[in-house]
Parts: sequence; C-alpha cells; structure tokens
Amino acid sequence: MIQLFIPLNALGFIYREIRQSLVNVEQMFSLLKQAPRVVDQPNAPVLPDTGEGIRFHDVSFGYHPQRRILHQVSFVVPTGQKVAVVGSSGAGKSTLGRLLFRFFDVDAGVISVNGADIRTVTQRSLRAAIGVVPQDTVLFNDTIYNNIAYGRPEATEAEVHEAIRLAHLAQFIEALPDGLQTKVGERGLKVSGGEKQRIALARVLVKNPPILLLDEATASLDSVSEQAVLGALNEVACQRTTLVIAHRLSTVRDADQILVLDHGRIVEQGTHEQLLAAQGVYARLWYQQARGNDSAE
Ligand code: ATP
Repeated sequence: MIQLFIPLNALGFIYREIRQSLVNVEQMFSLLKQAPRVVDQPNAPVLPDTGEGIRFHDVSFGYHPQRRILHQVSFVVPTGQKVAVVGSSGAGKSTLGRLLFRFFDVDAGVISVNGADIRTVTQRSLRAAIGVVPQDTVLFNDTIYNNIAYGRPEATEAEVHEAIRLAHLAQFIEALPDGLQTKVGERGLKVSGGEKQRIALARVLVKNPPILLLDEATASLDSVSEQAVLGALNEVACQRTTLVIAHRLSTVRDADQILVLDHGRIVEQGTHEQLLAAQGVYARLWYQQARGNDSAE
C-alpha cells in the first residue's frame, strides 16, 4: 500500500506543479512578447518574506542594447501602500512590471523586494510573492470554479468563495446556468472583458500574495464593468503592497503615490492633488483625459 502511495503522492505533486505552471505561463503570455532569458544563481535563496516592500534604484533597461526604454528610474512602494505609474503610451509603464516579475534583468541599477536584490533570489519564490492581474487574461476551457482555483489548486472551497466575493463576481456567477460549474471557453460561456478581469482578480486572491501587480486595462471596459473592476481592485489592494500600471488616470486618484513616466524617465511624483497643483505633465494628461471623456459622452 505504502509503495502505491508514494508514486501517487508524487503524481499529485507533479499534477499540482503542472497546473501552477499553467498559471505562470498564462501570466507570462500576458506580460511578455518574447521568452524569458533570466536564470537563477546557483544556490539562490528564497525571497525574504518581510521587509520594506518594493524598491527600484537607478534602474535602466532596454529590450535591445541600442534602444534604452527606462533611464535611471528610482522609486519605492512601501509595504501596504499603493503606487501607480501613469504616462503616455510607450513611456515604459508595463516594462516596469515585467522587470519586477523578472522576465528580464535590468541593465543597470537594482530592483529589490523585501530588501533582497531580485536577481539573487529564486525566480519561483519571487513570482510566488507577486499576484499579477494582467491586461488580457486567458481563461481555460474549463469550469469557472477551476479557472479561479488555478491560482492555488489546493485552495479550499471556502477560500474560492471568499475570492469570488472580494472580486465582485458573486452576482455574475449566480446568474449562470450551472453556477460555478459553468464551462467557459470556445464551446462554453462567453465572458466579457470586465468579467474576465474579475476572474483574474479572484484567481490572484486565491493565490493570496503579499504583492499585487495590476496592469489595468479598463480602457476596453464599459463604465459599469470599469466601476465593478475598480471597486474590487481597490478593496483588495488596500492591505497589500501594490504597483498599478495605469493606462487611465481615473483609476489612480486614491494611490498613495503617483509616478509620471515620460520617455522612460520619472518626471513627476506625488499624490493626485499635489500633481494637479503642480500643473505639469500629470495635470495636462488629466485634463486631456477629462475632455476626452466629455466628448465621448
Ligand atoms: P501602453 O500604455 O501603450 O501599454 P507602456 O507605457 O506600458 O505603453 P511599454 O509596454 O512598457 O509601454 O513599452 C515601452 C517601449 O518598449 C515601447 O516602445 C515598446 O514598443 C517597447 N517594447 C515593449 N515590449 C517590447 C519587447 N518585448 N521587445 C522590444 N521592445 C518592446
């Protein structure tokens, strides 16, 4: 019996590993357009679990040596705070997220999490500590329940239900023909952009990481879905260290700090009120977007 138990146990382990790697692969597809090239150092330790949050120190980076995207970027996201990055398209916002997740190594400077240079710890422990809500979530051809539980396959049903509540998905699921057992995907239910993002959020909540990386894509959502996604995100971000890559300024008003990125440089930094008062790049972007919304309405 015991002889049978060991291989079965090993199989269970391998199955869980594969399911977990599916989640990671999915996140990778969403954040990346090319394969990762980073490697762990021999005997790299795991990421410390307490410390001072996220720190970018003089970080410079380019996808190709001849074209630098980020120039000496420095900022801190203290534990439990929310920092948002805004800036025009192509400024390098999503690149910051890819570097934090260590899909690429920096060319100069240091990114540290909980005091450890992320190049010195295992990629696995780093990525386990970060929950990513990507711009475009891929759902599997499976039930809604399994799509959410992919975040941590060993999660209990109660944990999955709590994540659903926090992600503002309960009403949506109640209205489905088979509830949580409803299949999504090609031959199953079609899910809207906002619902997909909330499923991604629930998945991250099941994973329960101390750090959140939100690559917001609310531009494609209607205003009801946008409000639902934002409400859910704000609720869950408030106890965690959160870096928000914001493509719309309306989503970042309440951040503890807003960084304005322009051509890969931080050109302004402050709260919403401070940045409006400064009448600089942020204020210009803010009034531009406000005018855009008015004319759209
Ligand atoms: P947006 O708001 O439009 O998403 P962003 O500020 O997030 O823009 P990034 O996605 O960080 O911008 O891209 C910054 C620059 O890096 C862009 O010029 C982009 O074309 C380039 N870039 C992004 N990903 C890659 C890649 N994998 N390889 C080469 N260049 C890339």
